Amino acid sequence: MPRYDRDEVARRSGHATWEDAVRATADLTQQEAGAVLGVSHPTVRSWRAELGVGVAAPRTSAPERAAAFRADERDARHGSANGYRNLGCRCARCTAAWTDYQRQRRG
Ligand SMILES: [Zn+2]
Repeated sequence: MPRYDRDEVARRSGHATWEDAVRATADLTQQEAGAVLGVSHPTVRSWRAELGVGVAAPRTSAPERAAAFRADERDARHGSANGYRNLGCRCARCTAAWTDYQRQRRG
């Protein structure tokens, strides 16, 4: 939707700009906000996404968290079998911990 149409929609519902309208209705569900603003709820969703309103912070995936762990050598999990096996770290401390762990298991 072109910007001038968005602002027209916002003015009809008593807001100065579409950004104001989106922020003012941020606490409503998409359906409720759509009813207030006179647009469809997918439109509300796309407007909110554009402004970053009411959008949960993106959750990081397990591989991303593991990569972040490996990149941070101060992370306390280095030097653990968990760091080696589950998080995929091959630093000297994790490798040593994994070797020890295997040795103990073979006992
Ligand atoms: Zn490590």
